[in-house]
Amino acid sequence: MLGSRLDNQSGPYRRQLLGGALAAFLALALAGAAPAQAPATAPALAVAKADAARYDETVKTLASPEMEGRGAGTKGIERAARMLEERYRSLGLEPAGTEGYFQPFTVTTGAKLASHNDLQEDLGGTKKTLKLNEDFVPFSFSSSGQAEGPLVFAGYGVSAAEFGYDDYAGVDVQGKIVVLVRYEPTGFAAKGGHQGLTQHAALISKAINARNHGAKAVVIVNGKLPDGEEDLLTRFGSVSGPENAGVLLVQVKNKIAEDWFAAAGKSLAAVQDQINGSTKPASFAFPATQRLSVAVDIDTLHASVNNVLAYLPGKSDEYVIVGAHYDHLGYGNADSLAPSQIGQIHPGADDNASGTSGVLELARLFAPLKGQLARGILFMSFAGEELGLLGSAHWAQQPTRPLGKAIAMINMDMIGRIKGEKVYVGGVGTGSTFRPILAADQKNSPFHFEYSAGGYAASDHTSFVARKIPVLFFFSGLHSDYHKPSDTWEKINAADAARLLDFVAGVITQLDTAAERPRFITVAAEDPHSGVTSTGGGGGYGPWFGSIPDFGQSENGVRFSDIQPGSPAAKAGLKAGDVLVDFAGKPIRNLYDFTDALQRSKVGDVVNVTVLRDGKPLKASVTLVQRR
Ligand SMILES: [Zn+2]
Repeated sequence: MLGSRLDNQSGPYRRQLLGGALAAFLALALAGAAPAQAPATAPALAVAKADAARYDETVKTLASPEMEGRGAGTKGIERAARMLEERYRSLGLEPAGTEGYFQPFTVTTGAKLASHNDLQEDLGGTKKTLKLNEDFVPFSFSSSGQAEGPLVFAGYGVSAAEFGYDDYAGVDVQGKIVVLVRYEPTGFAAKGGHQGLTQHAALISKAINARNHGAKAVVIVNGKLPDGEEDLLTRFGSVSGPENAGVLLVQVKNKIAEDWFAAAGKSLAAVQDQINGSTKPASFAFPATQRLSVAVDIDTLHASVNNVLAYLPGKSDEYVIVGAHYDHLGYGNADSLAPSQIGQIHPGADDNASGTSGVLELARLFAPLKGQLARGILFMSFAGEELGLLGSAHWAQQPTRPLGKAIAMINMDMIGRIKGEKVYVGGVGTGSTFRPILAADQKNSPFHFEYSAGGYAASDHTSFVARKIPVLFFFSGLHSDYHKPSDTWEKINAADAARLLDFVAGVITQLDTAAERPRFITVAAEDPHSGVTSTGGGGGYGPWFGSIPDFGQSENGVRFSDIQPGSPAAKAGLKAGDVLVDFAGKPIRNLYDFTDALQRSKVGDVVNVTVLRDGKPLKASVTLVQRR
């Protein structure tokens, strides 16, 4: 599953995208779910039962050290691709890629600092060379190159016509180096009519705006920090952005910028207070004798990866897609939720060796029915998912089978941790026949299904719903090992995963044999401001609480499906299964309430919370800490 690559301040855009995506699980609106016609049931075809031991063995192989966490650019992901190809071939499935079973494409895997990263200040003749990673650091989406010139302070670097606010009004930054503080004027939230930051606070917005005003380089400082927070440099590579923002972009520590302000007879804090107090810009040019010399040198890393595609022909040219991504985070990238363990293999047993093995197991079950089913089945193993759903998007752009003949897409991403026989199913509102099909199949299933209508979420089926193909998404829920080296194979619940595969096989059989194909239905967008990520333990600004919400729970509190070890919530004695109902005196009815309350809190706050444990209220004190 695609993570939320949110740094502490970087991206309201991304935050909204992913927050909204995950909100699809919240089973909010059922809008658009038209009454469905019962599918015609065809004579039952003999599909064998999934084999839990065989499934488990495949997960173990995919999550083994030789596969190197299946990170783009590793030998391990190539090994995984060849293993998938070999399995599909041995089942007698037809190659359905562009080069046999493979459909290769190129991805950007990251950036690294090369040798020449340099920052020198000249304050009226007093020169100083600043230290990389101590005084300053480039952002990974900075251009590479050099610039030298005078400095201009341009406040938050925001031009917000809608608020009648422009930090660039009255200052000339053409060919100069701009100094900006992070975030945005505090008055924007009220003007915008909501609590969160606007898109103007995103680093990439600031970079683009500075570039468009002619600046040669951008220097970002944290500026004023909430009480108790340290002035940290952003770890290189931890903020996502485009490959190249088209301008030099570095961060310096507050104390460095404070020297510049002092040399100009000003104070950074006072200027920032002035902007916030009035919601009016306070931009100015530093004295011409204050100059900066910036050099940024970044290597962008690319890799060629492969979707692995295999086809089981049916009697017609229509087909059902059954897919799962097989890539993961390799040795950990910006999406790792264990930043201190970057460099260790992130084996991704649940994410998504579990779904990949599921596709292989289904391929094995259906392979003997070659040519007998009414429709074909296209089995897809995607690469590039963790980098932004790239493999599925690539296929949707360059389909290797006619897109219009794909009647439905079934995606499995993280199906290996079924707990309490609970399974989330997304997209049930996107196909006209899905509800009766699921209902028919559910009769023979031990699971409690949490259905949500929408088809947008942080996984590959999103690429298909965007092409108006009905999708179903199977998911066993988040957990505290998500995107960490501890997502290991022995934690996989193979017995339940196999039972789920039997259920999915039933759905595929019905879809494949029904007289009528499902009609695509657009499901109304769900609330983009869920902010699930800020409680879900990803990055996200604001203090860290450390709970993982149960996405099925949408009323009467927030149930924790897990608590992150070592987190403030864990230290306060909170446990999986607890239902949060009060946070610092504010009633918590749902995840939105919780997210809002958390965002209004500060690092260091000791928050009294009430949870229901086994139905009885229990009070706890949680000391919120800073995310890193
Ligand atoms: Zn993932």
